[in-house]
Amino acid sequence: MGNLLVVGSVAFDSVRTPFGEASNVLGGSATYFSTSASFFTDVNLIAVVGEDFPNEHLDFLRSRGINLDGLEQRPGKTFRWRGEYSYQLNEAQTLETHLNVLETFRPKIPASYTTPSALFLGNIDPELQLDVLNQVKRPSIVACDTMNFWIEGKRDALWKVLEHIDILVINDGEARALGDDANLVQVAKRILSRGPKTLIIKRGEYGVLMFHQQGIFGAPAYPLEAVKDPTGAGDTFAGGFMGYLSATENYSEAGLRQAIIFGSVMASFNVEEFSLDRLRHLTREDIDERYTSFKHLTHFEDLS
Ligand code: AMP
Repeated sequence: MGNLLVVGSVAFDSVRTPFGEASNVLGGSATYFSTSASFFTDVNLIAVVGEDFPNEHLDFLRSRGINLDGLEQRPGKTFRWRGEYSYQLNEAQTLETHLNVLETFRPKIPASYTTPSALFLGNIDPELQLDVLNQVKRPSIVACDTMNFWIEGKRDALWKVLEHIDILVINDGEARALGDDANLVQVAKRILSRGPKTLIIKRGEYGVLMFHQQGIFGAPAYPLEAVKDPTGAGDTFAGGFMGYLSATENYSEAGLRQAIIFGSVMASFNVEEFSLDRLRHLTREDIDERYTSFKHLTHFEDLS
């Protein structure tokens, strides 16, 4: 089994959806990602929190076996994000972003982390993503996520990150903004010409599309009876995807396809509750059961 290094945000989120709301709950791109990945592989986390970050959250991350040597606790407040979803749950409207301790964060990679077998540059300032890339021995696989906040604010730095990665994982709205085109196939062409070998576009309830030289692969989202909060779905998807790749170290076309299904399984659980509440009591048996249902969902016989 490999070891997966992730850098990203650890946050307090306040979220409102048509089905409820939650204030100052545990969130952040790296939190969702590492919790999801921890079901498959060893995870080393690089992030920063403020002095207001409670031990109970640290205990939860430790209980998932996540290595927190690279989680800095600094004077000041933890990053805070506030967002809202309409009935169309696909895209969050960001109401507030308070970078707080993230604003002056400079990731320091502990010596024990410098040779990861897989690296995920979670949603965070692209300059910090570059900083992390420069501090580690290039692992076999590097993937990256981002969002509109950085596409609009740090576009050049982001393009520089993309020159050095294997896989970009972003949602459809972000892909259109980055690729400057409404058509996702055109967007994929443009982004793939700038560095990444693979582009994975997350399309919320419509699932995921993977573009690369070998062609296009599509997976639906698992149809659920109730979705309460889509926050973190993308990061949970990426955590399952990268966690599975890190565990198997199989980066073939078939390996990537299977990893996409595990990512989709993990995201489907996460949206059932607010914050990370569903992942807190998820079991490996739950994951395997839904994976089997997913196989039925997407299987068809060729009768021609
Ligand atoms: P997702 O729903 O997977 O796109 O990610 C949601 C998570 O991203 C939330 O838990 C937020 O705390 C976090 N987040 C929102 N905005 C930012 C930002 N500008 N930088 C880093 N993390 C962010």
